[in-house]
Amino acid sequence: MEIVTVKDKKFAISITAEQLRQRIAEIAAQISKDMEGKKPLFLAVLNGSFMYAADLMRGITTPCEISFVRFASYEGMHSTGCVNEVLGLAEEIKGRNVIVVEDIIDSGLTMQLLLSKLREHQPADLRVASLLVKPGNLKVELDIAYTCFEIPNDFIVGYGLDYDGEGRNLPAIYTVME
Ligand code: 5GP
Ligand code: MG
Repeated sequence: MEIVTVKDKKFAISITAEQLRQRIAEIAAQISKDMEGKKPLFLAVLNGSFMYAADLMRGITTPCEISFVRFASYEGMHSTGCVNEVLGLAEEIKGRNVIVVEDIIDSGLTMQLLLSKLREHQPADLRVASLLVKPGNLKVELDIAYTCFEIPNDFIVGYGLDYDGEGRNLPAIYTVME
């Protein structure tokens, strides 16, 4: 399918399922090599990264673990305003080689906050593996160890990413049409 409709918008294909498969296999091989003997703990950020995390894990050839976290951001009762919390962090990450698996990094603010929360738990090593990065929108300095694709600043859906809750099931990445 070259063009799909999600809710009220049309989207055109920009990264095919085959391109995703090939590139994710390359990244998985690189991570496997870098993490040999280190038993990394992958922390996949829900919801958007579920499909990427599943395919990435299939290509990891060194012993590893995976767990899932959700980043909750809500207005607190106190004057400080916004409260942020990492939900689901059951695994002990102290002293571990942790790789955060994310769908997309846009401004980078979410990832910056998440990394600072995770650092409080003193992992031995903390790296980011993001399927997509929009370099043109980055507002903070982030060290992203593993990037599958850099993309322009357009809104995309598919392969785990949603438009207002829908489109996560699409097997490829689609970009919104004007
Ligand atoms: P950041 O804090 O880096 O600006 O935002 C990252 C989050 O914004 C992602 O986890 C994702 O939920 C959302 N996001 C940014 N760009 C897109 C996009 O093009 N499509 C979709 N579906 N979500 C996006
Ligand atoms: Mg995300």
